[in-house]
Amino acid sequence: MIKNIIFDLGNVLLKFQPSEFLLRFTNDVEYIDQFVPKIFSSTVWMELDRGTISIEDAKNDFISQYPKEEDFLTLFFNLWMEMLTPIDKNIEILKDVRALGYKTYILSNYIKEAYTYIEKKYNIFTLFDGQIISGFEKTIKPEKAIYLELLNRFCLIPEESLFIDDVLFYLKPAKKLGMKTIWNKPETDLREELRKFDILI
Ligand SMILES: [Mg+2]
Repeated sequence: MIKNIIFDLGNVLLKFQPSEFLLRFTNDVEYIDQFVPKIFSSTVWMELDRGTISIEDAKNDFISQYPKEEDFLTLFFNLWMEMLTPIDKNIEILKDVRALGYKTYILSNYIKEAYTYIEKKYNIFTLFDGQIISGFEKTIKPEKAIYLELLNRFCLIPEESLFIDDVLFYLKPAKKLGMKTIWNKPETDLREELRKFDILI
């Protein structure tokens, strides 16, 4: 029986759609198509997630790598956190499962500074019994250590725990540890998926 429901943040509870966001500032689709993976798939961004460098250092690193793009990089670093807005239908689900008595947690790769920003901006963080945020833990999904940290810190039994993430790759270690999982794709009806685990919302 499921007792604990664990949510990822990006594209589960908060939007993370860099291309869509950046196209507000330029019409140059080709430029954005090369800019987004260059930033978000970089080792620098991974180190940000891991909490081993600061945003300021990351920004300076990118500017020294791509000096011609300094203006856009500066604009990007000034504004990117604005794209982190709540996904209302899933926040409703979070509230509903809590009302049914389920314990709720966060397990997310998230940059320290971005987490601090959203924590101040949105009042959803009282809706959890605990949270594991990569930037504070110095370990990131899909490393086994971050899943074990979640289970150990909050004394969760894997078989009673259901983890929801939009990245399939991040569900595998959870499954291996005995947790149940839901892959939250853009077209997923999360309510319907939860009902499959007898969570009657
Ligand atoms: Mg995500």
